[in-house]
Amino acid sequence: MPSRIPRLPDAHLAKARELISAHRRRQRCRYCYDRGYVGRNQDNMLVPCARCVDREAVMDAWRAYVRSTPELAELYGDYFEAPPESVAEPLAAAPSQTASTAAGEAPPADESAQKDAAPASP
Ligand SMILES: [Zn+2]
Repeated sequence: MPSRIPRLPDAHLAKARELISAHRRRQRCRYCYDRGYVGRNQDNMLVPCARCVDREAVMDAWRAYVRSTPELAELYGDYFEAPPESVAEPLAAAPSQTASTAAGEAPPADESAQKDAAPASP
């Protein structure tokens, strides 16, 4: 199945390398030979090294770069933006605290309230 993602223009690979190297968590890495990336994917985009690069931070920086670069913004639009569904992830369920309630503590109906309610004819 052909990719629907436009190929990244080579001119932007240098910026991608720069962003990756700015977010490396350590300097020595045999996995990527200290490059910070392990290769390119089919869209000509660099694949950050999973061992030494903060990929979340790189993606944040890359999204900002795409937004601020008209050529890329036109190519990719909001492709790099996280879909709203994944942004609004529900929080972890709070522990249930509803085991003991005040049910059963309701006061009994006041039957004396109607005791003198009979209409009296003057
Ligand atoms: Zn690495």
